[in-house]
Amino acid sequence: MKPWENNIRKIKPYTPGEQPGVKDIVKLNTNENPFPPAPGVMKALKGMDPDSLRRYPDPSIRLLTAELARFYKLEEDMVFAGVGSDDVLAMAFLAFFNSDKPILFPDISYSFYPVWCDLFHIPYETPPLDENFKINRKDYYKENGGVVIANPNAPTGICEDLSFIEDILSHNKDCIVIIDEAYIDFSGKDSAVGLIHKYDNLIVVQTFSKARSMAGMRIGYAMGNPVLIKALNDVKYSINSYTMNSTAIIAGVEAVRDAEYCRNAIEKIIKERARSEEQFKQLGFTFTESGSNFLFVTHRTLPASEIFNALRENNIYVRYFNAPRIDNYLRVSIGKPEDMDKLFAFLKEYIESRNA
Ligand code: PMP
Repeated sequence: MKPWENNIRKIKPYTPGEQPGVKDIVKLNTNENPFPPAPGVMKALKGMDPDSLRRYPDPSIRLLTAELARFYKLEEDMVFAGVGSDDVLAMAFLAFFNSDKPILFPDISYSFYPVWCDLFHIPYETPPLDENFKINRKDYYKENGGVVIANPNAPTGICEDLSFIEDILSHNKDCIVIIDEAYIDFSGKDSAVGLIHKYDNLIVVQTFSKARSMAGMRIGYAMGNPVLIKALNDVKYSINSYTMNSTAIIAGVEAVRDAEYCRNAIEKIIKERARSEEQFKQLGFTFTESGSNFLFVTHRTLPASEIFNALRENNIYVRYFNAPRIDNYLRVSIGKPEDMDKLFAFLKEYIESRNA
């Protein structure tokens, strides 16, 4: 071993879902939106002058944060944008979690949270979800260095009401509470954005990757009071001033403007989710109540790992987490009806052959 090898930062990184390079697959493994982005996004991209790429983008990302502020009825200095919500969340962990006390998030949640804690040396505790994968709010009443709640949670899809979020906020007024709302648009429930004026310890993080169909463009954003947004900007300008490229800024603005298109896509996905629930039930699966664009399913008799491998060998990709308590579950993104039909046709045949 060379001496410098001792000086490398060692970390167990997050494992992103597979992005196979082949076209002919049914891809239900990374909760992407199966519909294209809004027409205005396509138009903006086609109309973009490549010569404009000579210039650095606006480091303040003002066009986009102003558009988001208008949409959510906030002031411009209450919005921060970044390269996907992963980027925004990482900056938020760095900005807000500097206490010696552990931050708190559920044992089953977005598996990136512990990675950022390890990377940034943030102590953390993970209160267990109950046997129905629900958060016990009282676990978050104790002293802590900060709280992170994904609502809807991942990978369970379960969404809590705003009163539940408010209860956690009111019990944690001396620390920052991050509500990660990557999937909130599919829940039919209110976003915590409406609580920002009431709680100066609240940061709400959302993304363009799900409801707005732009996972490939990498846009995420945080909303909170101006003091918190300034702290996020101070961290950003201490790492990389130009996080977001000019193309993403222009395309992002168009996606926010066409809210109606986005709402239509969400409705189609929610409808398909309901149809998928019926199909899963008929095939002997049970699942948690989903407020997201995926279902978290387990089969009565067949192990999830076996089903996962069988699907994959047949070019149907879903997500499997080989982790305690959830290793008999599959997370299945809601795709277009024709994709879901392929999934269910395969599952029907497979389960029948295994039961024969
Ligand atoms: N939060 C949660 C709960 C997620 O599931 C994801 C998607 N993997 C993200 C944040 C990050 O999404 P993105 O970086 O694409 O905005």
